[in-house]
Amino acid sequence: MKLVFLGPPGAGKGTLAVKATVFFKAPHISTGDIFRGAIATGSPLGMKVKSIIDEGRLVDDDITIGLVHERLSKDDVKNSYILDGFPRTIAQAEALTKFSKIDAVINLEVPDKLVFERLSGRLVCRKCGFNWHKYFNPPKKEGICDKCGGELYTRDDDNVEAIKERLEVYREQTAPLIEYYLARGLLKEIDACPNVDIILENLKKVLDSP
Ligand code: AMP
Repeated sequence: MKLVFLGPPGAGKGTLAVKATVFFKAPHISTGDIFRGAIATGSPLGMKVKSIIDEGRLVDDDITIGLVHERLSKDDVKNSYILDGFPRTIAQAEALTKFSKIDAVINLEVPDKLVFERLSGRLVCRKCGFNWHKYFNPPKKEGICDKCGGELYTRDDDNVEAIKERLEVYREQTAPLIEYYLARGLLKEIDACPNVDIILENLKKVLDSP
């Protein structure tokens, strides 16, 4: 199964993808994780994209498309994958159709208010990538991941200014993909407000329905 997870920042695409990758046995490809990995290692790509990401803007289509194209040429994603955070523009979607055939696009619907609440308290584990929340889902020990003991940090783009920018960018450049995929018969909608286990069950149901 080749899936795309679509939705605004804070919709929970990454959190759902972590569960779905296990259930569907489909590798999880997150362009945001790829960029953050490049920043963490101080690679030329990381240095190029750091300020763009911190400010909540989108990385150039050419760079992003090139990265995903290369990743999708690997053997492990021949039959299945979950794309989390790509495509984010019509140009990226057009490019994707040229190098891969997706089965469905899952649109995670969530109101802005919840996006703000989720992102402004998010804590990410440096080791396993799990997302905690200061108030909604705090770890037992402050600053430490319950799952793996890794250190928790706040993403540089999870501040009020960058969150506003990311939402604006989402509305202008990414939301048009909803119509784009609807017109191509690939779009499936899911309510992204409940907890992730319920969302995963709903995902299985929408994929089973014609
Ligand atoms: P995410 O982890 O998906 O929230 O992505 C974090 C940031 O990485 C975004 O705000 C963008 O700056 C950048 N990014 C991730 N995916 C893309 C993409 N498909 N196109 C352009 N920029 C991206």
